[in-house]
Amino acid sequence: MRILVAGGAGFVGSNLCERLVDQGHEVLCIDNLSTGRIRNLANLLTHSRFCFIEHDVIKGVPDTKYPVDRIYHLASPASPPGYQSRQIETLRVNSEGTLHLLELAEKHGARLLYASTSEVYGDPLEHPQSEEYRGNVSSTGPRSMYDEGKRYGEALCMAFYRVRQVDVRIVRIFNTYGPKSDPYDGRIVPSFITQALLNRPITVYGDGRQTRALCYIDDTIEGMIRMMESEKTSGEVVNLGNPDEHSVLDYARLIIELTGSSSEIHFQGPVVGDDPHRRCPDISKAKRLLDWAPCIPLSEGLPRTIEYFRTELAELGVLAAT
Ligand code: NAD
Ligand code: UDP
Repeated sequence: MRILVAGGAGFVGSNLCERLVDQGHEVLCIDNLSTGRIRNLANLLTHSRFCFIEHDVIKGVPDTKYPVDRIYHLASPASPPGYQSRQIETLRVNSEGTLHLLELAEKHGARLLYASTSEVYGDPLEHPQSEEYRGNVSSTGPRSMYDEGKRYGEALCMAFYRVRQVDVRIVRIFNTYGPKSDPYDGRIVPSFITQALLNRPITVYGDGRQTRALCYIDDTIEGMIRMMESEKTSGEVVNLGNPDEHSVLDYARLIIELTGSSSEIHFQGPVVGDDPHRRCPDISKAKRLLDWAPCIPLSEGLPRTIEYFRTELAELGVLAAT
């Protein structure tokens, strides 16, 4: 198939592009490199079935010459510092960008999968979060550009599904980690591993008792592809995540242990910015519809990610090569 991946130079997108090319598809990656990194695509750029176009999907979608069969829409800043320093762009790529990609899907009769987020549940009052939960979101708060951008994007997808019969599928991705994430994007796993490998203080926000449930990238990618290819998921919304929930402080301690680091934990003062207190996916729907559940535990995923970061930080010249 011909598959367009918008946001394909980012962490999730570049892993997805690699998997799709490995499966034998032709992949067209569109990315404006705002939070993504061209080095994530180093292995693909010379591949005959891969094409990269540097482009901002807020401005529209470049002429793809041939019709595409599938569209994965992952283009959006995703880390809190990333979207808080690009507030208007984040709202625009999830609204105008989504509109352009939906129009392309309609024109080509393609399926579109929209990468939404657990952030649509806000600081949840129900635990764990199932797809039926409507969320506890501030429409004006410090995360609103991301949360409300994604909520609008979901609504737009569903409107195109109902009114124009476009075959859309929505995944709400919970915290995902793994190789190709940006060491400096400020998210928990890249930050803690980078700090630990450099023996610098681990920056824990608040008292570290807030929780997250981390899913390894390969599991997330498998879930996304199943969601796209299933005959049962047109117009559906499905959570993708690993329900293995721990506190931020637990993750800091585990990463110090696994890296053999001498880093100390530094508490950074009260949590700010509507940081959700607890988050954990209910994945019953993914199990039922996709026969999917994550299979890579932290004990496998974190060491793989640490090894990636060792090499990456050495290549970037910030860690002595071992
Ligand atoms: P990322 O920042 O690494 O990747 C996003 C990519 O989109 C980047 O390559 C960026 O350059 C590109 N992009 C941003 N705005 C664009 C625009 N206007 N035009 C073209 N490209 C643009 O983030 P990620 O972690 O890979 O997230 C990918 C998607 O998955 C995002 O939509 C995000 O909201 C969603 N998601 C990710 C997670 C996670 O834990 N990684 C969780 C929930 C949802
Ligand atoms: N966090 C932290 N120190 C960091 C980065 C993140 O304590 O250097 C915490 C953050 O406060 C949040 C959790 O880790 O409670 C997950 O943060 P992340 O930015 O990865 O994603 P979020 O789930 O908040 O979007």
